[in-house]
Amino acid sequence: MADATGHPLWSLLRYARPHRRHAFLTAFFGVAGFLLSFAYPWIIGSVVDLIVAPPSSGLTAAAREQGLVRYTLLAAATAVGHGAVIYGRGHCNVLLGDGIVTGIRRALFDHIQTLSVRFFSKERTGAILARVIHDVHEAATLVYNGVLVAGMDAIQLFIAFALLLGISWKLTLACVAIFPAYALVFGAMNPGVRRASERMQAHLSLISANVSEQLAGQALVKTYAAEPRESARFAADSEEHHRLVVAQSRMGHAVAACGEALVHAGTTIVIGYGGWLALRGEMTAGTMTRFLGYVLVMFGPVRRFAELNILYQASVSAMRRVFRAMTIEPSIGEVEDARSRAPSVGSVRFEDVRFRYDEGQERLDDEEVSTPKETSWVLDGITLEVPAGSRVAFVGPSGAGKTTLVSLLPRLYDVTGGRILIDGVDVRHYSLSALRSSVGVVQQDAFLFTGTIRDNVAYGRPDATDEEIREAAVAAHAHEFIERLPDGYRTILGERGVNLSGGQRQRLSIARALLKNPRLLVLDEATSSLDTESEWLVQRALDRAMRGRTCFIVAHRLSTIRRADRIFVLERGRIAEVGTHRELLSNGGVYARLVRRQTGT
Ligand code: ADP
Repeated sequence: MADATGHPLWSLLRYARPHRRHAFLTAFFGVAGFLLSFAYPWIIGSVVDLIVAPPSSGLTAAAREQGLVRYTLLAAATAVGHGAVIYGRGHCNVLLGDGIVTGIRRALFDHIQTLSVRFFSKERTGAILARVIHDVHEAATLVYNGVLVAGMDAIQLFIAFALLLGISWKLTLACVAIFPAYALVFGAMNPGVRRASERMQAHLSLISANVSEQLAGQALVKTYAAEPRESARFAADSEEHHRLVVAQSRMGHAVAACGEALVHAGTTIVIGYGGWLALRGEMTAGTMTRFLGYVLVMFGPVRRFAELNILYQASVSAMRRVFRAMTIEPSIGEVEDARSRAPSVGSVRFEDVRFRYDEGQERLDDEEVSTPKETSWVLDGITLEVPAGSRVAFVGPSGAGKTTLVSLLPRLYDVTGGRILIDGVDVRHYSLSALRSSVGVVQQDAFLFTGTIRDNVAYGRPDATDEEIREAAVAAHAHEFIERLPDGYRTILGERGVNLSGGQRQRLSIARALLKNPRLLVLDEATSSLDTESEWLVQRALDRAMRGRTCFIVAHRLSTIRRADRIFVLERGRIAEVGTHRELLSNGGVYARLVRRQTGT
């Protein structure tokens, strides 16, 4: 688990471990590059000394010419070396950097998948998307500009400093006098740059969330002719983002400008004071030139840092966002010695089950978490027993808690109080895969992925054979319509593929649930009415699917309700009545009223 409190760089380093080889190569080319960077000042200084050396040095014209040729060849070799270094360092840096980024992105995606449905119903899809795509990419900037290169820069700075000290300590102290001022400027101004970056990224995530919702809701936007309003909203969002970018740039570039000016001030000191020392004969012109060359080498990393500071700050704050997301504790977990054997009988018992939606906080941003309000119970003391193989229906007014109740079975949420037993074992004591493999769910709005019909049916069991898939489709009364599609089971569904009718989607989702051959079947019946033909086919498919399984049905159709072994009438999270259709009708209570309303009698 990433440490949210420490510097994100430490978390980043863990992801660098598998890419040690590339890190080593980057470091190798880095070291070679920086050693080479000292070659030019040394060559230039030596050439100047060679040219201006007094006749008393004993150098003949021929010796000077030979020396010049040697230094020129050396300079040419340095040029070739530099070329090799640029390629090697740049390319290995990408291998290392993108390797790290890919690792982080995968880890973040995997972590997000461990979070409960609660998280996904609270967070906006676009915001999660921005975290996985944008923030991880932004975090990479630092890696690309080289954590290692930055380390190398630091070494370069110290070596150049040592060389300078060796030449003239007076001049060295004079030119490093700018460092405290540099540190002061950065220390005072950088937190502002970082905050501006954080605000910018948070706002980008908001835009991403707004756009993704706007795209998903296009049909609504069009039916209400709300395009101009949506355009205005997007324009306002974009304007605000522009304002935040400008604010960050203003602050960041002010820091960069101060840094650059200070570096030039350091060089100016060397020109003035160094020239004066040379004039007084305390150093030769060559030494002074070499000194100036080393000073430029020393200030190189300092200037680079000033220039890249805005990117660094944005990158570090993006990293914080990414690693913070990785520290969100999943609220649905497994106990240590969880049972890996799925329940085989299928008897279910609810014991005084209570549930509230606002328990457990899995949020992307700490600051957005509001203290949970004490809301009333969504389920308030539900106790019920469902023998294996029986069929129970839940009816009641909308918002009574029916969908919530059935979603507790596969642990989409955990109970707040009480417990749920399957085959006498608390659902929390099964491993999640064992539990979920034994619960098939057919939802009101069947979700289909972009892909073939076959892939969609086989989603729960990708290894299923064509024969098994066909059997499931036949049982779900989906086979006939699939056969009529242009590519049969290979027909592509989704964005660029065929779209199916509501009834067809439901039958596919029934086939998908059947292929899992679950002991328990949860059906959230569609409220919207299908055409008579579809309705009849779906009903037949469901009847067949329910055979031999323990079934929990959130029922809306009278036909389904009638066939249930037992009916639980829910009202405001409590069981108001229990019985068979006949018993409840003759009781003349809530159920009888509901039925009268539905049948209009
Ligand atoms: P039903 O299926 O009987 O219509 P639900 O189980 O969907 O009822 O909802 C029961 C109550 O829980 C409602 O008051 C609803 O507003 C609330 N609720 C449902 N889903 C959520 C959720 N994801 N987050 C917060 N509250 C929810």
